[in-house]
Amino acid sequence: MLGSMSRMRGSWTDGGVVSRRHLLAHGTDPKDIARAVRQGRLAVIRRGWYQTADADDAVTSAVRRGGVVSCVSALERHGIWVPPGIDRTHVRVSHFARSARPGDSCTGFGRLPTPERAVDPILPALACAAKCLPWDHFVAACDSVLHQNRAWELVDLVPAVASAPPRVRSLLDRVDRLADSGTESLVRVRLRSKRVRLTIQVYIPGVGTVDTLIGRSLIVECDSRAHHLGEGYQTDRARDRAARRLGYHPVRLTWEDVMFRWPEAEREILDMIRMGLHRQRVRSGHQPCSEDVYPAI
Ligand SMILES: [Zn+2]
Repeated sequence: MLGSMSRMRGSWTDGGVVSRRHLLAHGTDPKDIARAVRQGRLAVIRRGWYQTADADDAVTSAVRRGGVVSCVSALERHGIWVPPGIDRTHVRVSHFARSARPGDSCTGFGRLPTPERAVDPILPALACAAKCLPWDHFVAACDSVLHQNRAWELVDLVPAVASAPPRVRSLLDRVDRLADSGTESLVRVRLRSKRVRLTIQVYIPGVGTVDTLIGRSLIVECDSRAHHLGEGYQTDRARDRAARRLGYHPVRLTWEDVMFRWPEAEREILDMIRMGLHRQRVRSGHQPCSEDVYPAI
């Protein structure tokens, strides 16, 4: 990079692909762009979009198709939780190019701004994900956005669903930045959709902070995807024993239980509630919470 372009390194994180509009908006001299193209340091992908020699194939391919990496693929690149098994790059084609390439473009509700970055920022990506993801996965992604970006508030997510139907807009009411993982988010929103009252991230003296507490005594914890017979395994078992000694009933779900075997896991938890395992007397008071009352079922 030379001249003013060299001061823009931060903007080159989008897989080595950048738009002319973005460069100009950040003060790059058009002559510098032209020189970089002449010298082969930048190659034109399509009109107004450039790549470096080591640019990311998925990003250059999205731009070549007339779009940018967006939706769940962009969220994943921003470190936001997205469900497993995304087998293609989700691309948002600009409004002007869409008529030329109908079909496989992700779209949000309403008209989104013309893409300027090769990897969409979080908000337009989230707007597309609102359409592409099942409702529970979308809430989990929103949880993750707020969890990762402490300066953001729930109201900052509103533009992503501003033009969406009420059923999608109302999903923001279910977002909770306290959720520590995607699986924890999914357990919370799915159980609440069954009218189970629960609290998350509850501190229990003598046990620690548990993911989910149903009623007074039923603890549901989610193992992470990488959880195997490692360090966490022994710690978790010790926590479970400590919880049992205090009268709690701990249930541990694997990542696979939540992602691929949820109906069975849910049935098991609902059966435990029917058996009253959430109403057991406990010998250590966890932190009281307004929602910590008898579950609705
Ligand atoms: Zn998508």
